[in-house]
Amino acid sequence: MLYFDHAATTPMRESAKDAWLEASSALNPSGQYALGRRARSLLDDARETVAKVFGCDPIEVIFTASGTESVNIALKGFYAISPHSKVVISAIEHSAVYETAQFLGDVDLLPVTREGFVHDPHNILAQPAAVVSCMWANNETGAIQPIEQIIAATDAPVHVDAVQAVGKVPINFHALGAASLAMSGHKFGGPRGVGVLLAKRSPAPAPLFHGGGQERGIRSGTVDVAGACGFAAALTEVVATMDEEQQRLAALKDMIIAALPEDSILNTPKHSLATHVNVSFPGAEGDSLIMLLDSQGFALATGSACANGVNRASRVLLAQGVDEKTARGTLRISLGYTTTEDEVAQLIEALPKAVAIARQAGMA
Ligand code: PLP
Repeated sequence: MLYFDHAATTPMRESAKDAWLEASSALNPSGQYALGRRARSLLDDARETVAKVFGCDPIEVIFTASGTESVNIALKGFYAISPHSKVVISAIEHSAVYETAQFLGDVDLLPVTREGFVHDPHNILAQPAAVVSCMWANNETGAIQPIEQIIAATDAPVHVDAVQAVGKVPINFHALGAASLAMSGHKFGGPRGVGVLLAKRSPAPAPLFHGGGQERGIRSGTVDVAGACGFAAALTEVVATMDEEQQRLAALKDMIIAALPEDSILNTPKHSLATHVNVSFPGAEGDSLIMLLDSQGFALATGSACANGVNRASRVLLAQGVDEKTARGTLRISLGYTTTEDEVAQLIEALPKAVAIARQAGMA
């Protein structure tokens, strides 16, 4: 399989598999006997590793079961403790943030430029809000957002969705000054189903679940020790290789961009993750492109949600000002640590033919 969907999930690293397996027989880390203490010590080590990487205190690391769960705890948890009812998010958030904000109710969207960057947020951010949420980097285009500016422009707690950014850009939680930050292990080679929320001591989000009081009472439930160990091992590997690896991927990304047909529209701006290329081919249906490429062994995504088998224009691209028809003919090519130059060369060769056939088939 020629895998170009690393932004959806990336294969688990050998280091993560080894760490997961080694910790897989760990028992309940809350047990007061020797086996419980052994599990607790593995969990503490994983927590310390995460804290060290992100420049925060171990107590600020909350293990969860996904990026989505981390986001939900932050948004709903800050909303619950606030006297205000406004929720402010960017117009290009992942559905984990977007749908949670819609569920809470009174939402203001920070607008984005045609390039996909949040801009001019000051008026909206000057108003009182229960919580503000903005992603570090967009999952469809890879556009890196002006997070520091957003944090500086509001008095509300700011949650940062860093699910796509972890392992690709340096992140220091204390220096950033956000109230919380979400990440997900399966995006950088950890196990699926393990997330982390970094949460300052104060303000602390109210819990979604009530129970045994694990993870500072913010996330009750017996912690998955093996999952946490796999997460920490993948994180250690990804940060140790980050600079070199991001340079290698940036060169592959440039190769793809240079080879795109002239009439394609690049939706990924320059200031973006090295891993993402989002491109529209007007006149071609995204679904047709994916099926044609799939039949040749390529795994790619449109980057937008597909409901009932109908290819919908991406909410993110529409917010950037891409027209509906163009947005429907979009591919997200996303690279990762297993991507080779030879795989990229094969994609570059296959792409123009697939686009020509998809255009002949037309739009649905
Ligand atoms: N936020 C962003 C930006 C994402 O890309 C994703 C996953 O695609 C999520 C949140 C949700 O993460 P998870 O799949 O771990 O629930």
